[in-house]
Amino acid sequence: MMEEIRVKIETLQDEERELISRGKKIKREVFEGSDDKDEGLEAVRNIFGGDIDYGEFGHYENCEGCADEENIDDSENEQFSKSFMENRKYLSKENDKREELEVEEGNDEVEEASDEDENGWWKENISGCLGGVRTCAAMLLKTNACVALLYTFAALHCTNGHDNNNKRSRILWYNAKNTHTGLGLSNGTLQELSRLASDLTQFQALLAPLMVTRVVGTQGHSNVRKHLVDTMEGLNWDVEQLSFDARTPVGHKTFTNVVATLDPSATRRLVIACHYDSKIDTRGDFIGATDSAVPCAMMLHLAAALHSQLSTHSLKQSDLTLQFIFFDGEEAFHRWSNTDSLYGSRNLAARLHNQPYPPNNQDNTHELHRMDLFVLLDLLGTRDVSFYSFFPNTQQWYARMLSFERRLGELQLLNSRPNMFIDKALHKTGIQDDHIPFLKRDVPILHLIPVPFPSVWHELTDNEQALHYPTIDNLNRILFAFTADYLNIVP
Ligand SMILES: [Zn+2]
Repeated sequence: MMEEIRVKIETLQDEERELISRGKKIKREVFEGSDDKDEGLEAVRNIFGGDIDYGEFGHYENCEGCADEENIDDSENEQFSKSFMENRKYLSKENDKREELEVEEGNDEVEEASDEDENGWWKENISGCLGGVRTCAAMLLKTNACVALLYTFAALHCTNGHDNNNKRSRILWYNAKNTHTGLGLSNGTLQELSRLASDLTQFQALLAPLMVTRVVGTQGHSNVRKHLVDTMEGLNWDVEQLSFDARTPVGHKTFTNVVATLDPSATRRLVIACHYDSKIDTRGDFIGATDSAVPCAMMLHLAAALHSQLSTHSLKQSDLTLQFIFFDGEEAFHRWSNTDSLYGSRNLAARLHNQPYPPNNQDNTHELHRMDLFVLLDLLGTRDVSFYSFFPNTQQWYARMLSFERRLGELQLLNSRPNMFIDKALHKTGIQDDHIPFLKRDVPILHLIPVPFPSVWHELTDNEQALHYPTIDNLNRILFAFTADYLNIVP
C-alpha cells in the first residue's frame, strides 16, 4: 500500500515539468479523471478502498479542511510555476555570489548586490503561459497506530507577473521584508558559524531538561517553560510569558506562550518558532523528542552559541532583530480539529493582529506586520528528513536554506548524509501546524517539517533513541548560517 502511493508521489515530482506541459493529462494519469479537490480526494478513497479515518490525521488536515484554501490568498497558485523558475534563478544568483566570495576569500566584508539588482531578478516575469493545469497528488502512510494523509492540491495558472512595487511602497517599514536579502556569507564565515554550531555538549545540556512529558497543566510542563524562560533571560533577551485560558475537550486550561525578543525596540523581526507542550498519551510517557523538544533546543542553542554576535547586533540598534516564539498547546487533547489544536498559536496570532503597531497609527498596521519571516520548526531530530518548499512567497528563503546545506557540504562542514533540502515545491499540502493562524493573516512562512513525517511521529518511540545527532548537528549548522545571513551578522 505504502509503496504504491510513494511511487505515485515520486512519479509526479520527478516529472513535474513534463506533466505541467502536458496539461490536463496529469490528473487523468494520476487520479483517473479527478477534476477538483473533492474528486481528487475521491480518487484517493478509491485507491485506498475508502477506509480512511479522517479524524486520525493529526498534523495533516483532512481534505474537508482543505477548504481552508479559501482563506488563503490565491496568488499562491499564480506563483506555482514561477517558483520553480525562481528557485533555479535564485540558486544561480547564490552561486554567482559564492564565486564572488571565493575570489575575496579571507575578506569577510562582502559587497552586497544592490537592491535594484535583487529586485530585478525577483520580479522578473516568466514569459509565456504554460497553460492552466491542476494537479492533485495524495499519499497515505500507514503505521500501526497512526495514519497520515498528505494531500497536495496545486493549481497552475498563467502568470501575468507581479506588478513592480512602486518606489513609494518600498520605503514603508513593513514592506522592507519584500526587498530584504541575505548578507551573503564567505567560506570563512560559514566555517566559523559551523564551529559555533557544532558544540553538541552545549546542545545536549539545553535539550536534556526538555526531554520529559510536558502536557499542559503538569509539573513537567511548567518546569520546561521555566527552562526556556531562564535560558533566554540569562542571555539577556526580553522574555514575555503570555497566558490565557481556553476551553478544551478536557475542561478549561491555562496556556502560556513564551515570546523572547533579542531587541524589542527593533521594528522588524525574523521569527523562529516551535511548540513546547507535549501530547497526552494514555499508553505511557510520550516524550516528543522530535515533537518538539529538539526544535526548542535548537533555538536555545542558537541563542546561546551566538550570544556575543547577537548582543553586538542588538547594540547596533538595527531595525531588524531576532524573535523566538515557544508556543503552548499545539497538540490536541482529544482529537485534532480546528478547535482542539493550535491553542497557543491561534491566540497569539489573533492577539498580535489586534494590536496596532506603531500604537495609534492611521495605516491599520499591527504587530504581525513586524514579522519579516516566520520560520517554524517541527518534528526534527531523526535521520530520515526531507524538506520541501511549501509556500511560493518564501521560495527564495527556502532556496537560501537549500543553498547553505549544499555549500556547507561542499566545504566538508557537514556530517555525511543525503541532503535534507529537496529542490522541489509542494504547495497546498494541508499540513496543520502552528504556522496556520499566521499564514491566514498573511505572515510569510517558512515551514521546516519533514515530509513524510518521521516514523516515530506520535508514537512512544519518539524519544532519545529516535534522535540522530549527526543530522541534528547539520540542521544546527544550516540554521546558524541562515540566521546570520538574514540578520547580517558576521561572527
Ligand atoms: Zn505532535
